[in-house]
Amino acid sequence: MKTLKLFLLTLICISLFSFSRGRDEKYQCLPCGRDCDKAVFDKPGECTHCHMKLVKSATITFKSVKPTSICDYIKSNPKAILLDVRTKDEFDGKTDPNFGTLKNAINIPIQQLDERFSELDKYKSQTIVVYCSHSHRSPQAAYLLSQKGFKNIINMSGGMSEVTNKDCKK
Ligand SMILES: [Zn+2]
Repeated sequence: MKTLKLFLLTLICISLFSFSRGRDEKYQCLPCGRDCDKAVFDKPGECTHCHMKLVKSATITFKSVKPTSICDYIKSNPKAILLDVRTKDEFDGKTDPNFGTLKNAINIPIQQLDERFSELDKYKSQTIVVYCSHSHRSPQAAYLLSQKGFKNIINMSGGMSEVTNKDCKK
């Protein structure tokens, strides 16, 4: 009887273990702000919709803030670093359409982020809000930064094109 109990207990442990392991190994599209971000896959590969690389779901850890509440967010989190990952021309308002940017933001284009992220090292313990025009580029930047060890990364969903409040806009 004792042996049987032990055997059953072992079985339960093994199945629980493989269940939790299996759950860890879900994959999602590298976040790009499109609907396919929500699709879940069982193995690595590429997203069937946008052809971006699939990453482990558990590694997508950044949070998000809505464009309609960004000014309030900045007001209540004045130390948050605002990171615009668009091109310098977009940041400087030289493009058409010009969606503007946020006051006191810093600009590191996503194309340069891999070689310039050390410029952000001094902000590693602070919250960094990442944004672009439509939140297609910024989730990728947010993902990259969280992979580099930044713990408090927030992506602004929707991007500057959806920020209507002029209070925190430049
Ligand atoms: Zn995709």
